[in-house]
Amino acid sequence: MLLLLCALSDLCGKCFSMEGGVRMNAKRRPILAGNWKMNMTATQARELASKLVPLVSAVKDRDIVLGPPFTSIASVAEIIKGTNIGLSAQNLHWEDKGAFTGEISAEMLLDLGCRYVIIGHSERRQYFSETDDTVNKKVKQALKKGLLPILCVGETLAEREAGKLNEIISRQVTGGLKDISAGDMEKVVIAYEPVWAIGTGKTATPEQAQAVHAYIRSRIAAGDAAVAAALRILYGGSVKAANAAQLFDKPDIDGGLIGGASLVAEEFMAICRAAERR
Ligand code: PEP
Repeated sequence: MLLLLCALSDLCGKCFSMEGGVRMNAKRRPILAGNWKMNMTATQARELASKLVPLVSAVKDRDIVLGPPFTSIASVAEIIKGTNIGLSAQNLHWEDKGAFTGEISAEMLLDLGCRYVIIGHSERRQYFSETDDTVNKKVKQALKKGLLPILCVGETLAEREAGKLNEIISRQVTGGLKDISAGDMEKVVIAYEPVWAIGTGKTATPEQAQAVHAYIRSRIAAGDAAVAAALRILYGGSVKAANAAQLFDKPDIDGGLIGGASLVAEEFMAICRAAERR
């Protein structure tokens, strides 16, 4: 797969960097997605979204996305209607409809105005037993119904320390994207979120994050170099205004999936601004 990257690098110097990763590419529009997790009642969500709308209204060259909990999606949708902010859900079910008590379908999300859906977040893998197989079913369902999946992958500290980083990432990427066509891959977003960095205040260094992003891109390039070059890969894990610019400066980091810091309007705005391409 590296051979493939190198061969293309010779043909198209402006697409690939000397580091082996794909250079920051104007075609890869950065995404800043806020994952609000199980926070914000509908009333609180309305207030937060109302604060954010004017703060990020001038941002035109990046996709800004809010991911409220299901019960707050409608109120956020009302506030962001007609603005530059997109809407994401945090999960969906892989079936169209039926006897799945407590679950939410793609159609329900689309009806509320969602364009994105976060799939396979490590908290769902850890607390709700999601596997690569169920994640893959959800990715397929999102694509079938016209939602853009944000597929989360990431290793635990124990896995990293045991030297299993690439193995875990490779398994999650391959498993989550099993049988997805090159055409559908244009709609997929991957979020690399080291589990040890989520909500812990411990951020991966820009170099650590870049290395994994480049690895993910190389895995995708092994199947299709053009798909890999266009794929947006976000970093997530204790991103804040103070560390965002250094992370987003890396050639294979195309924005962020932001948890805690997305609940504070000014902080999220500063992170969005840090993603401005230089
Ligand atoms: C997340 O939940 O996706 C996340 C990255 O959280 P935090 O930014 O709080 O680490």
